[in-house]
Amino acid sequence: MGKNLDAKCKQCRRIGEKLLLKGERCSSAKCAMVKRNYPPGFHGPKGKKRLTDYGLQLIEKQKARRYYGLTEGQFKISFDKVQRKGGDVGINFLKFLEMRLDNVIYRSGIASSRTLARQLVNHGHFKINDRKVNIPSYQVKVGQVIKIKKSSLNNKYFKMLPEKLKSLASEQKSWLGTDAKELSVKVLHEPRIQDLPLNIKTHMIIEYYSK
Ligand code: SF4
Repeated sequence: MGKNLDAKCKQCRRIGEKLLLKGERCSSAKCAMVKRNYPPGFHGPKGKKRLTDYGLQLIEKQKARRYYGLTEGQFKISFDKVQRKGGDVGINFLKFLEMRLDNVIYRSGIASSRTLARQLVNHGHFKINDRKVNIPSYQVKVGQVIKIKKSSLNNKYFKMLPEKLKSLASEQKSWLGTDAKELSVKVLHEPRIQDLPLNIKTHMIIEYYSK
């Protein structure tokens, strides 16, 4: 399946949860989930239909996929990789998704949404341990340091970043060490259970793919 062109806010309204796809707007009163918390379309205001178990599993899978901004194929490939490794598939899958480079850029505060983070990575603005990496799905490792390329520092977006990162210091994720002066992010450890988006019911995703 290709790129999802559905309006971002409609995706949240269809799922019935905030997927945080629009950066700062998502935490403002302008969020469509605050103003119109019902499914889009003519029958939307009447509320949600009752769903079968399969329908609920499908929604949960779509929710996680859209939350991380992945295509159907990318999501399934990631799930299969984690499942082959064994262990607690649900927790390991969320950790795997959190350790994607685009997600780390988003979690660090460098980008206000995963979409923007992916764009910045694609445009080659980052180095990991001094090597350029422009692959959003790159799995970062504990101890690695992500820095903005010197030649990108003149970019208008990055010039404003130190102030932005300072203002976000209190919301810093404990598993990431973000340095607002150096404009770098160090992966201190893997995300712990409390760092994972536990509103994603991974057991339903596992059941969906086991059919
Ligand atoms: Fe979803 Fe609200 Fe963000 Fe729109 S503004 S993408 S509805 S969380």
